[in-house]
Amino acid sequence: MKPRVAVVGAGISGMSTAYALLQKNYAVTIYAKEFSPHITSNRAAAFWFPYHVRNDKRGIAWALKSYTFFRETMKDSTSGISMCRLIKAAKPGANDEDTWTAFMPDGSFRKLQDNELLNGYAKAFEAFVPLIETQLFLPWLQNYLTARGVEFKQEVISDLQQLATTFDAVVNCSGLGSRTLCNDESIIAVRGQVNLLEPGFPDHIFLDNQTPAYLVPRKDATIVGGTYEENTYEAVTVAEDLEAILQKAYAIFPELKSRKVIGSWAGLRPFRQAVRLEKEDNIIHNYGHGGSGYTLSFGCAEEAAGLVSGE
Ligand SMILES: Cc1cc2nc3c(=O)[nH]c(=O)nc-3n(C[C@H](O)[C@H](O)[C@H](O)COP(=O)(O)OP(=O)(O)OC[C@H]3O[C@@H](n4cnc5c(N)ncnc54)[C@H](O)[C@@H]3O)c2cc1C
Repeated sequence: MKPRVAVVGAGISGMSTAYALLQKNYAVTIYAKEFSPHITSNRAAAFWFPYHVRNDKRGIAWALKSYTFFRETMKDSTSGISMCRLIKAAKPGANDEDTWTAFMPDGSFRKLQDNELLNGYAKAFEAFVPLIETQLFLPWLQNYLTARGVEFKQEVISDLQQLATTFDAVVNCSGLGSRTLCNDESIIAVRGQVNLLEPGFPDHIFLDNQTPAYLVPRKDATIVGGTYEENTYEAVTVAEDLEAILQKAYAIFPELKSRKVIGSWAGLRPFRQAVRLEKEDNIIHNYGHGGSGYTLSFGCAEEAAGLVSGE
């Protein structure tokens, strides 16, 4: 019989971990309080970019593995993944270090010339990164796992040790849930609010971390973000904040003013100073990916599966 592993959490961390465990021939059961589309992983923008993980050098290998995974998986046109042009821009005087470039695959980015800059910007890079349309990719991944025998069970887990008595190993991918499940107060919620505009403009991702402003062209909407609100635990939008986000975006791209606002959402990034990816007896933790859950996902998942098998 195959060794049995329980994964707690059905977000991008839990499902990517289940994917990596399947490659190692484990029998996997996922336990989750909630599933897509009712989880943080559906609230992501979600493009590949090392956001607030730049000081954790482990992140470089995790991010590069994920980049490769997404670039390969986009060959399946139903996966919801594509490669997208990203413009990462900074205004004059912005406290903007270029440490993120250490995470980039060779040849995937370049600094723009002065004559290529948008009005009001002092510096910018062009990069090519995976864009993961969560509304398509999360069901795709769940179907992929189900078709290969992964079981999904809706259940709140309150004791990892107890669960570990009935499995060969348990991988905890409960995101912000680890605040109570592991009594880990070092994981905090960082709320992000975004507007959704009619799709079609722009044709690339735009990112200005200092303003902050970002635009993400999905098929169903252009995401216009956003906020970064530390220690804010209510996943709700605030009308004044949404309006301020829009005004910042209009100042950069006046063309957006003619686009209808078709929705909005808020999500809670599960932020920790360092991702917790370690083994405690037969319990492996894989949580605290903050604003980079997709960027780190498949790299962290491979390492978590390696900890299960003792590599
Ligand atoms: C506005 C916004 C924009 C973002 N943009 C990007 C981006 O562009 N790129 C990027 O890489 N990342 C982005 N992120 C971050 C990304 O969304 C998160 O890092 C990622 O979704 C975290 O995934 P997770 O699986 O760890 O957690 P979640 O998606 O929160 O999943 C946790 C799972 O654990 C379950 N759970 C929790 N507690 C228990 C329990 N006790 N028992 C059973 N189940 C439990 C939940 O029900 C859920 O299934 C963004 C986030 C936000 C909010």
